Amino acid sequence: MGRSPAIAGMAFNCAAPDTGNMEILAEHGTPEQQEEWLQPLLDGETRSCFSMTEPAVSGSDPTGLQARAELVDGEWVINGHKWFTSGAVGAAFAIAMVVTDPDAHPYARASMIIVPTDNPGFNLVRAVPVMGHDGGPGHCEILYEDCRVPEANLLGPRQAGFVIAQDRLGPGRIHHCMRAIGSAERAIEMMCRRANEREAFGGKLADKQFIQDFVALSRMEVEQARLLTMKAAWRMDTEGKKAARREISMIKVIAANVVMNVLDRAIQVHGSLGMSDDTPLAAMWRYSRMLRIADGPDEVHKMVIARRELNHWAKQAESEQPGDPVQPPAAAAPAGAGS
Ligand SMILES: Cc1cc2nc3c(=O)[nH]c(=O)nc-3n(C[C@H](O)[C@H](O)[C@H](O)COP(=O)(O)OP(=O)(O)OC[C@H]3O[C@@H](n4cnc5c(N)ncnc54)[C@H](O)[C@@H]3O)c2cc1C
Repeated sequence: MGRSPAIAGMAFNCAAPDTGNMEILAEHGTPEQQEEWLQPLLDGETRSCFSMTEPAVSGSDPTGLQARAELVDGEWVINGHKWFTSGAVGAAFAIAMVVTDPDAHPYARASMIIVPTDNPGFNLVRAVPVMGHDGGPGHCEILYEDCRVPEANLLGPRQAGFVIAQDRLGPGRIHHCMRAIGSAERAIEMMCRRANEREAFGGKLADKQFIQDFVALSRMEVEQARLLTMKAAWRMDTEGKKAARREISMIKVIAANVVMNVLDRAIQVHGSLGMSDDTPLAAMWRYSRMLRIADGPDEVHKMVIARRELNHWAKQAESEQPGDPVQPPAAAAPAGAGS
């Protein structure tokens, strides 16, 4: 499905942000919420969006979120400014992450609230253009202006916004990685087909060692990314999302970078044709570039990976007595060591 990043996810009803929303409605929704919002989504009758990121504050660090929801006479009254609410055009509802308890611990200030998109006060300002494109169903800017929804639209416990956001992003990231690998496979195929046909300087491009290097590197990188994606998915299946957090972060960075490397080489081999919109390569490049930012920029995932590694060795050093032998490397450490 990753071979067709523009439409396959939607055609098979496993597109972002719907899959993440399905996960959290299934895990945290009440039976009534599941009947009203989850079932039509699973049946492919509706689409949805997820509204967390705000233009005014860093999306990498949602402790700074500013959009507010106050409980007034049995209704949540939401005010705030969001953007990059992907898929909002045509969505039936948004799951909005908003501050309900501003004085609480930074990780307990926010909650998730289900907001029908036809609700008064849910104002879709625009689909933010992305690299010269409208982004399909839109990466939308939304103004919540005295947007009132019933108290029962709270998803999961109050103040559990961060926990639910994590539940949402684990599987969602794996889906991104699988799609990225599908795109990279298509790019390798196109690169090879072109190199086998195109002639320059008295021979096929495929015979040039520079081009062979492109192909070999691409195949090696994709195979590494595929195996680590499978490991992360296996760990999530067998031990749960929390235990798989390190692998999820690692593969999110690797898959997002591998697909960009491979697409860049495929574009290079196609020359001016690769830059044109006459092949899908340019659109795949534009679509895939966002993966290094959305659902956590590379640098934030690397921070998570590095902190775990560093903490593990700091604890190891604390437990060592002078003269103890050096301990085995981190690969032998228990899951999530150092967190
Ligand atoms: C195409 C697309 C679709 C998206 N869809 C959605 C959606 O549906 N819903 C939603 O809520 N959001 C969505 N987002 C938003 C996305 O989740 C945020 O862009 C992301 O979390 C980063 O937040 P930010 O843009 O505010 O960047 P910032 O947080 O301002 O970060 C900018 C840069 O700062 C650097 N940085 C940040 N933290 C660190 C650190 N600790 N160490 C070193 N460097 C750091 C990184 O290089 C980062 O790229 C989407 C984004 C894109 C591009």
